[in-house]
Amino acid sequence: MKDKDQIAMLREEKRLETFKKWPFNSNTNISKEKMAVAGFYFIGNKKEPDLVKCFICQKELDGWEEEDSAWEEHKKHASYCQFIQLNKSSSEITMQDVQDLDMHRMMNITKQVLSKKIEEFKKQAEKTRELLENCV
Ligand SMILES: [Zn+2]
Repeated sequence: MKDKDQIAMLREEKRLETFKKWPFNSNTNISKEKMAVAGFYFIGNKKEPDLVKCFICQKELDGWEEEDSAWEEHKKHASYCQFIQLNKSSSEITMQDVQDLDMHRMMNITKQVLSKKIEEFKKQAEKTRELLENCV
């Protein structure tokens, strides 16, 4: 997803728009409306038809069941999420909240990219070490 689209996900109605192929109906606690309220947007595909992602903590969740609650699942799997901790509905969220959330969003994305790089670096270091050991 492009950076511009990512930023749009700060808005609940933009998140809701992503749920075009959501497999659950509207009388559950995981309806597309409830998912958007809980901070999720849809990133599903054929293999993972119910995959969603949080716009702040970047947590991805799938395998939803009808008796689940979008907000509770988010809280259970990512209690550290700044959006969960803020615990406000979209009408209560202030401009300041949006700025703070966006800062956390960027920090979380950066952390994710960095930890991926660190993993790659560790793997490369391991390979190099094996090569060196074989030379001795
Ligand atoms: Zn989150």
